[in-house]
Amino acid sequence: MRAIQIKKTGGPEVMELVELPVPKPGSGQVLVKIEAAGVNFIDTYLREGRYPVELPFVPGQEAAGTVIALGQGASGFKVGDRVAWNGTRGTYAEFACAPTSELLRIPDAMSFEQAAAVLLQGLTAHYLAHDTHAIQAGETVLIHAGAGGVGLLLTQIAKRLGARVLTTVSTEQKAELSCGAGADKVILYMIESFVEEVKRQTDGDGLPVVYDSVGKTTFEDSLKCLRPRGLMALFGASSGAVPPFDLIRLSTLGSLYVTRPTLKDYVRTRSELERRAADVFGWVASGELHVRIGASYKLDEAAKAHRDLTGRKTTGKVLLTL
Ligand code: NDP
Repeated sequence: MRAIQIKKTGGPEVMELVELPVPKPGSGQVLVKIEAAGVNFIDTYLREGRYPVELPFVPGQEAAGTVIALGQGASGFKVGDRVAWNGTRGTYAEFACAPTSELLRIPDAMSFEQAAAVLLQGLTAHYLAHDTHAIQAGETVLIHAGAGGVGLLLTQIAKRLGARVLTTVSTEQKAELSCGAGADKVILYMIESFVEEVKRQTDGDGLPVVYDSVGKTTFEDSLKCLRPRGLMALFGASSGAVPPFDLIRLSTLGSLYVTRPTLKDYVRTRSELERRAADVFGWVASGELHVRIGASYKLDEAAKAHRDLTGRKTTGKVLLTL
């Protein structure tokens, strides 16, 4: 099969298109013929070697496709089922194995592309809006990178919950997309101060929560947008990691809370995964949640996909289609 392989960590160029044997499903696993694979920031971090990983490896951890074989003891799914998963690596390839514990059935009304596009980012937006901070109707919230994959989905979910949504984006084109997703006020944070605009929008009161995936360049100012006892939900670091931080600042800025949430802790059990996925897939299937696929690349263009994602050139979801 054709697959992308990383033999040594580094820049996008370390991703090589190679021929590998089709993997065999282990116990409790299925073999899936992949139709679409998600391209995510986590893939770029692993490629760069920011997290420990055994070499060589096939990158990617999110995909949708058709079950073509079952491993020993794999139950609950059959050959021909349309499935998607997030977690088990090896998805930048024509075939990959996944454990049934991660598999989700794709509703008939959803395409493989939609499923691969919404799973990781949709589950993330779901837990951020419902559990990291349970958004209440009438609240004003700030979402950075509002035209990004998570940003567009989180904006729509926050609107469903009755919030007034402020977003930040870097360009006019991204501002239009963010408005289209329901943002009430879009701030061009490269040319205007989002702290000042948030103050204006909240009559100086500040916000109950900021959803910050940008990290290094926004963290300090995001804290200044919060009202006393507000929550900083730092869920990503697209601009780089936030440097070490003196906790006393949380006190001086108003007894603030900071959390650094991650998806795996919000899908800890099969029932929690199924509950969130049922909501997200259900909303997509019914047309209530729009998934923007901003760019689709072929397998041999994986390096370009990574360059575009980290270079702020993408909007919505980035996919590899097989
Ligand atoms: P996005 O589609 O949001 O892409 C990143 C966006 O961040 C860019 O388009 C850009 O938007 C903005 N950005 C600001 N500064 C920079 C910079 N210096 N370099 C690159 N981008 C920058 O990505 P995703 O929706 O896939 O993910 C967003 C973040 O959330 C990532 O950091 C990811 O790791 C994290 N994440 C965390 C999860 C969790 O559970 N904790 C799960 C999923 C994702 P603009 O041009 O408008 O500024």
